[in-house]
Amino acid sequence: MTQILDHSGTAHLLRREDALGAHNYKPLDVVIHRAQGAWVWDTDGRRYLDCLSAYSAVNQGHCHPRIIGALTQQAQQVTLTSRAFRNDRLAAFYETVTRLLNFEAVIPMNTGAEAVETAIKLARKWAYQVRGVPRDQAQIIVMDGNFHGRTTTLVSFSSEAQYKEDFGPLTPGFVRVPYGDAAAIEAAITPNTAAVLFEPIQGEAGVIVPPEGFLRAMRDVCDRHGILMIADEIQTGLGRTGRWLACDHEQVRPDVVILGKALGGGVYPVSAVLSSREIMNLFRPGDHGSTFGGNPLAAAVAQASLEVLNDENLPARADELGRYLRGRLHALASPLVKDIRGRGLLIGVELHAAARPYCEALRDLGVLCKETHETTMRLAPPLVTTREDLDWALERIEQVLRG
Ligand SMILES: *Cc1c(COP(=O)(O)O)cnc(C)c1O
Repeated sequence: MTQILDHSGTAHLLRREDALGAHNYKPLDVVIHRAQGAWVWDTDGRRYLDCLSAYSAVNQGHCHPRIIGALTQQAQQVTLTSRAFRNDRLAAFYETVTRLLNFEAVIPMNTGAEAVETAIKLARKWAYQVRGVPRDQAQIIVMDGNFHGRTTTLVSFSSEAQYKEDFGPLTPGFVRVPYGDAAAIEAAITPNTAAVLFEPIQGEAGVIVPPEGFLRAMRDVCDRHGILMIADEIQTGLGRTGRWLACDHEQVRPDVVILGKALGGGVYPVSAVLSSREIMNLFRPGDHGSTFGGNPLAAAVAQASLEVLNDENLPARADELGRYLRGRLHALASPLVKDIRGRGLLIGVELHAAARPYCEALRDLGVLCKETHETTMRLAPPLVTTREDLDWALERIEQVLRG
């Protein structure tokens, strides 16, 4: 830490940033200047293995040539039309995303939070128009420990006090139940329930993997009670957990899937909601929209991002490398480690103590990761990482966790 702050140029950058910017983040003090694949370089030319991947937004690796190629090519053609007019990139993106994820229809947005808001609006409209819930009475069941974004509605049903205290009045219409408990979901269902909204693995909460069979049991509950199953796969989707969707681990098909993060290939915010034709048709012209959603630049980038995941077999690679990394982490048998969990390359290493100092020590050795929920280190390198990269990182992780 001190060695980085000693460098006057870097210290100067940090001071200027903190003097003018909001202080809503507490970043590790490493100032990244350049990146390629799984690696990033700081302003002094020091190299680091990125083991966070911008919270899984960089699954394809930094500055993937094919994605940057799509971006620069499209940037010189046309970037924004608004949806008042059509653009010639949307159809191909829609075909690619629906074919690869096996859904009938899609609506494009920009950020993850917006896509979750979109899914909530869709579920509410479905409740009123299809399920017959009285106007303004729809309820959505959500999970303890959830993270779905930072809008006022989404923080309204967070279980984190800091996320919502002082940001009220909160949006009603959400009921929270313990994560991983299908019986609790069933018990919370009323005639006004529209949907259940969940993450197949809770990333922000500390990489919490629900008990085996939870997704299937939830599917069964939703079917029996005729409510929608909405999977927020913004962090877990697009290969991160070793499958296209984390729900694929239990061969479960949600009614609505939310994508974001890696859909933009780490270069541009693109999100989307996928569903059946029938459900998506509830949106009529004027019901919902976004100035930037579905713009030609976003469509070109998202299509390339999906093609890279597919052509480079990145979901399978995440599965294999994830098994390897978790195996090696277990083998360290560090007395500092309380639990190791995850699927594919979404891995949480829970420590007995605060994780921040260990993340700082790792940074000093050239491995970038970030604590989540105080005691958990989230390890989620880009899916293009090699086994040699992981061995390199593991040497350093071992050094830090030796105890
Ligand atoms: C990151 C994330 C979001 C929010 O996405 P933004 O692009 O930051 O708005 C929502 N849900 C999950 C599961 C996420 O990981």
